[in-house]
Amino acid sequence: MSTRLPSYLNAAEPGPWAMFLQQLDRVEPHLGELARWTDTLRRPKRTLVVDVPVRMDDGRIEHFEGFRAQHNLSRGPGKGGVRFHPAVNLSEVMALSGWMTVKNAAVNLPYGGAKGGVRVDPGQLSRGELERLTRRYTSELGDFIGAERDIPAPDVGTNDQVMAWMMDTYSVNHGTMQPGVVTGKPVSMGGSLGRRDATGRGCFVVAREAMRRLGLPLAGARVAVQGFGNVGNATARAFHDEGARLIAVQDVHGTVFNDAGIDPHALLAHLKAGGSWSDFPGASLIPDDQFWGLDCDVLVPAALEGQITPEVAAQVRARIVVEGANGPTTPEAEDILHDKGCTVLPDVLANAGGVTVSYFEWVQNATSFFWTEQDIHAKLDRVLSEAFDSIWRSAHDKGVNLRTATFITACSRVLEARAMRGLYP
Ligand code: NAD
Repeated sequence: MSTRLPSYLNAAEPGPWAMFLQQLDRVEPHLGELARWTDTLRRPKRTLVVDVPVRMDDGRIEHFEGFRAQHNLSRGPGKGGVRFHPAVNLSEVMALSGWMTVKNAAVNLPYGGAKGGVRVDPGQLSRGELERLTRRYTSELGDFIGAERDIPAPDVGTNDQVMAWMMDTYSVNHGTMQPGVVTGKPVSMGGSLGRRDATGRGCFVVAREAMRRLGLPLAGARVAVQGFGNVGNATARAFHDEGARLIAVQDVHGTVFNDAGIDPHALLAHLKAGGSWSDFPGASLIPDDQFWGLDCDVLVPAALEGQITPEVAAQVRARIVVEGANGPTTPEAEDILHDKGCTVLPDVLANAGGVTVSYFEWVQNATSFFWTEQDIHAKLDRVLSEAFDSIWRSAHDKGVNLRTATFITACSRVLEARAMRGLYP
C-alpha cells in the first residue's frame, strides 16, 4: 500500500487517503479492460497548498494551512465542499476529493471530484476573523477555482455565509458577478431553494428505497443519528416527518435518548434558543459510548470520518447504516457489519443529495432561471431513487456490497471518459 502513496504524504500516517486506496483496490478486479486506467484514480490530478495569513482582532497575524485538491476532471469541472476544521490535512482533503469523483459519477452529474479546506477551528474565530480567513483563502485559490473549473460548496464548519464571502471575493477579483463559482449560497444571491436540507433529504430517500427492498416498514422505524449539524439534523427531521421514530441523537456536546421518540424540530428549537443537550426536556442524556450499541433499525453517522471502527461495528445492532458523513466506516468495520447482515448505504451514494442540488443550483445560475422548491425536491428524489435502483441491482448481479457496486458504476464512467479522451500528448 505505502508504495502507492505519493511522496508528499507520510507513509507512517497515511490518513484517510489510504482508506480511499483500499476501496479502489476492492473495485479494480471488477473493472475489466478499464482497469488499466485505475492508477489515474490513485493520485489526484492537482493539489494546491496555500498559506492563509489572517489579521486577528488583537492585532496578531496568524497563519493557517489551506488546501484544495482536484482529484479527477475527466467528466467535468471539479466539485466538492470546503471544510474548516482543526484536523484538516492534505490526506483528508485528497480522500474527500476522491470520494467526490466517485459520488458525482455515481449519480451521473457532469462533474469531476474536488475538495478543499482550512486547518482552523472556526468556533475560535470572531465573525470578522472568519470573514478575513475565508476571503484570503479564496483569493489564494485564485483561478484554481471557477464556474467551469472547480466549484466549492459548504462542508463541515462552513455554511451559506462562507459561500457568500467566497463568491463575493472571487467576483471582486474578476470584476464581474460570478454566482456559479460556488454553490450552497444564500437564496437571496443565487442559491437554490432546497439546498440546505438536500444532503439529509437525500440520505432519507436512499434509506427509504433500501428499507422498501429489505421489507423494513418506515412507520415507527427506530432511527439513531450521530451529528446534529447540516446533514444530521435534516436527516433526523426527514425521518421524523415521514413517520419514523428518532430514538437518539449524538453530537459533540453529548448523546440524548428517548425510547418513545425525540422531536428533532423541538430539539433544534431548544438548541437555537440557547438550551443545552442536558436540559432538553424531550429526552435524557446517556453516556456517549452507549450510542453505537442502541437497539435501532437505522443508524446514521452524520458527523466525521472514521467513526465506525471494528470495535464500534461489533456493538452495532442496526439493520441499516446510512452514511451521512463522508468515510464514517472503515473497510474492516464494513466487513463486520456485512457479516452481521447489516446493510451499509455508502457515503458516495447516501449523501449525494447535497451535490445533486448543488448541481441544480449551478444550472440555475448558468441560465438565470430559478425552479420552485417542489421542483427541486421532485428532481432530487428522482435522481437518487434511479441511482439507487441501478446500484442495488448491480450489487445483486455481481454479488458485491453496495459500496463496491457504487464504485464500479462510478469508476467505470470516469475511466471510460478517461480512455475515450485519451492521453495528451
Ligand atoms: P456540520 O459542521 O454542520 O455538523 C457536524 C456535526 O457533527 C455537528 O453536530 C457536530 O457536533 C458533530 N460532531 C463533530 N464531531 C463529533 C464527534 N466527535 N462526535 C459526535 N458528533 C460530532 O457538518 P455537516 O455539513 O453536517 O457535515 C457532516 C458530515 O457530512 C461530514 O462528513 C461532511 O463531509 C458530510 N457531508 C456534508 C454535506 C453537506 O451538504 N453539508 C454533503 C455531503 C457530505
